Amino acid sequence: MKVLVCDPVSTKCLEVLKGAGLEVSYQPKISAEDLIKQIPEYDAVIVRSRTKITSSVIEAGKKLKVIGRAGIGVDNIDMEAASKRNIVVVNTPESSTQAVAELTIGLMLSLARKIPLGDRGIKEGRWLKGELMGIELRGKTLGIIGLGRIGSRVGALAKAFGMKILVNDIAKLPEQLLKSLEAEVVDLDTLLSRSDFVTLHVPLTPQTRHMINRERLAKMKKGAYLINTSRGGVVDEEALYEALKEGWLAGAALDVFEHEPPTSEVVKLPNVICTPHIGAQTVEAQDAAGEMLAKKVIDALCLR
Ligand code: NAD
Repeated sequence: MKVLVCDPVSTKCLEVLKGAGLEVSYQPKISAEDLIKQIPEYDAVIVRSRTKITSSVIEAGKKLKVIGRAGIGVDNIDMEAASKRNIVVVNTPESSTQAVAELTIGLMLSLARKIPLGDRGIKEGRWLKGELMGIELRGKTLGIIGLGRIGSRVGALAKAFGMKILVNDIAKLPEQLLKSLEAEVVDLDTLLSRSDFVTLHVPLTPQTRHMINRERLAKMKKGAYLINTSRGGVVDEEALYEALKEGWLAGAALDVFEHEPPTSEVVKLPNVICTPHIGAQTVEAQDAAGEMLAKKVIDALCLR
């Protein structure tokens, strides 16, 4: 069987596919036109976020049985068209859990100790020691919204820092998990009003779009910090800009934005730390995504 790999993937991904006896064509820069031309020959296609698997690609892929997407999102795949043709779509949401959790903790520490301001000051010839009084994470309350894969890993890391953990989730959470984190389950308003740091780990759905809006920001504790490494649309960036500008929040850290690259003024504020959607950008996470995806594609092909 033949697999077309359309985006850059780890060497391990290619090795695993070839090791299973599949014929692999690695074309990480393939154009949309070439993809349409070549797809009829292939049984499986592997993508990351660059390549769009549109209904036309699916229609042209007469032999196509499996679509593999490294990472969590499947927004570049026409899921309806795939389902109509009975094509299996597999992805690897579990591959980036540790990477995103560690970035979240890194952002929290950066906010607490104003690390980026200190770095910028020194590079600009300013010694800001007196102005950079920070706070410690130990003893502070962390509110985790969405205690799934990433949220629970963030909780475990935060617990090691001596933080108290509040959680809010729409799902019934496993008792064992809550016990291990010594976490208290509360409603969203309570979480917002009691947390020193609030971190978001929910998917973007109609219910979570602008979940953190003007009213919710006003319910946060004065001087608290907000961290978003989930999806851009979960936070209303205009409302966040106002909450920071008027000094209600002490700071925010954002890895994801409503538009990427971001267009909002919020990214220019000195108490906002931004990273360019690098949550899953670690060598380990990318390797894991490639290897896990190759195995899932092989399994799915074997079942067909
Ligand atoms: P997950 O599915 O394991 O966990 C999501 C949790 O959110 C679940 O427990 C779910 O019940 C809960 N939830 C859903 N709607 C909710 C609501 N309205 N209120 C409260 N809780 C709600 O997902 P995950 O793997 O932990 O990923 C979490 C987020 O991180 C996703 O948005 C994902 O896209 C994002 N992510 C970002 C990066 C990055 O590069 N920054 C990388 C990977 C994942």
